[in-house]
Amino acid sequence: IKTVFSGMQPTSGVTLGNYLGAMRNFVKLQHQAKCFFCVVDLHALTVPKDPAELRKNTLDMARIYVAAGIDPNVATIFAQSHVSAHAEMGWLMEVSCYYGELQRMTQFKDKSAKNEVVTTGLFTYPALMAADILLYDTTHVPVGDDQKQHLELTRDIAIRLNNRFGRELVVVPEPYIPPREAGGRIMSLQDPTQKMSKSDPDESATIHMLDTPDVIRKKIKRAVTDSESEVRYDPEKKPGVSNLMVILSLCTGMSLDEIAGRYTGYGQFKKDVAEAVVTTLEPIQQRYRELCEPGVIEEILEKGAAEAEAVSTPVLRRVQDALGLLPRT
Ligand code: ATP
Ligand code: MG
Repeated sequence: IKTVFSGMQPTSGVTLGNYLGAMRNFVKLQHQAKCFFCVVDLHALTVPKDPAELRKNTLDMARIYVAAGIDPNVATIFAQSHVSAHAEMGWLMEVSCYYGELQRMTQFKDKSAKNEVVTTGLFTYPALMAADILLYDTTHVPVGDDQKQHLELTRDIAIRLNNRFGRELVVVPEPYIPPREAGGRIMSLQDPTQKMSKSDPDESATIHMLDTPDVIRKKIKRAVTDSESEVRYDPEKKPGVSNLMVILSLCTGMSLDEIAGRYTGYGQFKKDVAEAVVTTLEPIQQRYRELCEPGVIEEILEKGAAEAEAVSTPVLRRVQDALGLLPRT
């Protein structure tokens, strides 16, 4: 692992799924590789957003990165729109990607069915995501399981460009996705056959990283399970219980087997899940509050943008040049 890039959309209410599926790995990887963690505000615009809210959520997303344990002196934290190479490379990726490829993206099918307004950007978003990743000569991309298909597309575009030019014009990145039992796909508390999602309008389906302990306890108490009473890992037959087991396991370090052997009913099990989540999130929430002091996160983003720009501009020029764009003299 040499270079890591990943991003999260500044939609309000970062979830426990975002944390367990992706952000936890960001924290781990920062000490193993050069890391770029982006707040992908351009992606957030694919679904219409209130401007003031988007600005606030962008700052908050960056605060949560730092609060979760990403050290801005070790990894680069920045806002996507601060580095114009992303938008420029995004276009170059759109013209390197086929309409049919984008049509096959299941996230577009899901999101376009759910949203009233379907923007062109929602459709072409995977090309911008490819740009984000390829701009840093990224070797590994830590994401949740739902991003597998988009990452596969990034790889296809990269391989196609390299074949066309007969050299390693761009680095073909590898996915870094935890298996399901290690958090790759945390499920909704209300419909455990669906992934937990920031944009889920059902509040009780999602644990947000900034939820208060009481809210967390209430949501887990009401989480959908099944009519049995056996705590057993079986994502097919017992999706609700299995999901809570994964959450408990990741928040405490206990294995799924240990957890299964420990409970005879759901009451105490759910209580323990709730306490484990509260204990995991409390220190992050404390640090988040400290980072709300004016100017602190702004400075981190400023430094991050300069670092990101320095690395991505030469890569953008390399691709522009290969595709035949005339350099300015
Ligand atoms: P939205 O519904 O708005 O797309 P999201 O919850 O999917 O929100 P993103 O910003 O799109 O959030 O994704 C951020 C990261 O979190 C990605 O790496 C994604 O794969 C990961 N992720 C999202 N949901 C889950 C989940 N339920 N379990 C594990 N990882 C997840
Ligand atoms: Mg998503």
